[in-house]
Amino acid sequence: MPSSSLPIVVIGAGAAGTMAAIFAAGAGAPVLLLERTKDGGRKILISGGGRCNVLPSEMSPSQYFSASSRNSLKKILLSWPLADQRRFFEEEVGIRLALEHESGKLFPESNRARDVRDGLLDLARRRGARLRFGAHVVGIDPPVDGGPWRVRLDGGETVEAAKVVIATGGLSVPQTGSDGTGLRIVRQLGHTLHDTYAALTPLTTEPAVHAHLAGVSLTAHLEAPLERGALSAEGGFLFTHRGYSGPSVLDVSHAAVRARKPAEQPIYARWTEMDAAAWERLLLERSGGTVLGLLRRHLPTRLADTLLAEAEIDEARTLPQLRRDERARLVERLTRYRLPWTGDEGYKKAEVTGGGVPLGEVDPRTQESRVVPGLFLCGEILDCFGPIGGYNFCWAWATGRAAGLGAASNDAVEAG
Ligand SMILES: Cc1cc2nc3c(=O)[nH]c(=O)nc-3n(C[C@H](O)[C@H](O)[C@H](O)COP(=O)(O)OP(=O)(O)OC[C@H]3O[C@@H](n4cnc5c(N)ncnc54)[C@H](O)[C@@H]3O)c2cc1C
Repeated sequence: MPSSSLPIVVIGAGAAGTMAAIFAAGAGAPVLLLERTKDGGRKILISGGGRCNVLPSEMSPSQYFSASSRNSLKKILLSWPLADQRRFFEEEVGIRLALEHESGKLFPESNRARDVRDGLLDLARRRGARLRFGAHVVGIDPPVDGGPWRVRLDGGETVEAAKVVIATGGLSVPQTGSDGTGLRIVRQLGHTLHDTYAALTPLTTEPAVHAHLAGVSLTAHLEAPLERGALSAEGGFLFTHRGYSGPSVLDVSHAAVRARKPAEQPIYARWTEMDAAAWERLLLERSGGTVLGLLRRHLPTRLADTLLAEAEIDEARTLPQLRRDERARLVERLTRYRLPWTGDEGYKKAEVTGGGVPLGEVDPRTQESRVVPGLFLCGEILDCFGPIGGYNFCWAWATGRAAGLGAASNDAVEAG
């Protein structure tokens, strides 16, 4: 087959790959989307608790984490403005999005992640992309002497391609299909990798000192001091049987994952909106009630009881009876509580993978590899992730679109 009629082969029908297929096919290129699972988009299906938080309502590149060039990060993220992404979902995919006011997250009005997954795959088909499931790519051979790309499948079959888009994701939740094969392949092709690590993953504590609080949830403010600056997050906090979860915990978890040693990475919790001075004032009010009664008015009952016990204050102690040393211990536990984390749930539960292909190794306009021309990279395989809130899909959509358009563009290097 002449290489001009060969398809652009997109590997991985997840968030980024499906978007790449939509845009490459929409630009008129023949597209073949290869996916190892039997239906694709499995992370979309389980995202947002089955509701799929498609996008945030506001976004700034400064919210993303990467060890790569900030300049590339910015260019990539701003290449498809949030308002245009939203319009695409509503007008092209046909999924109206609704704002959840308290979180600033956008969900499909139907609250069904399946509508997002099916809507994107349908649009890829309508634009002319061919989809092939159960196709597990095990290797890619770049063109030799002007020949085609060769994409090798397990079982021995080889698929020829004009260009290749690799959208195989990271290492998180491997049963969704992303087991790291793509990372291995790009390394074989000459890319370097920034160390990968689990991010947005729950923390554990061994022994499970807070197991009796499992199920207690509240809004908390967390802070993880870093070598330079601090990582902080405000939002839902959930005590689990094994440790701590909820958006605020997930958002700071990579500090713990990367430190590995709890002694080297404190994570402090403030359990209410009140800071130390505000609590001091409240505890000094000489009203007649008990300290426990006051705590229970501001915190979930079980947590109030635990904090009082950990501060070694008697349940019957009234506010006027509270000694200065007791007050200091209590205020510290209320506003700067050191979480006794000892580990994390790792990739098994991580919503994303940190690290990956350095952003400087792709052209930020087209997502074309600077190492192997004709290869395009998008999504979680790249060294970038954002906090909870739709930011990771935003990255997948923006990089997927750019890679699809880049691969379909005549300016991009032709194989053959
Ligand atoms: C539980 C959970 C909830 C989440 N909720 C949200 C949310 O609400 N909002 C948000 O913004 N983000 C959320 N995320 C993160 C989001 O799902 C990811 O950032 C996003 O899916 C990454 O897209 P991707 O296309 O790069 O990778 P993936 O979505 O992982 O897709 C990669 C695809 O490539 C396929 N593949 C891999 N290797 C091969 C191979 N060798 N051959 C063929 N195919 C292959 C895989 O089967 C998979 O279909 C969540 C993640 C998890 C785990």
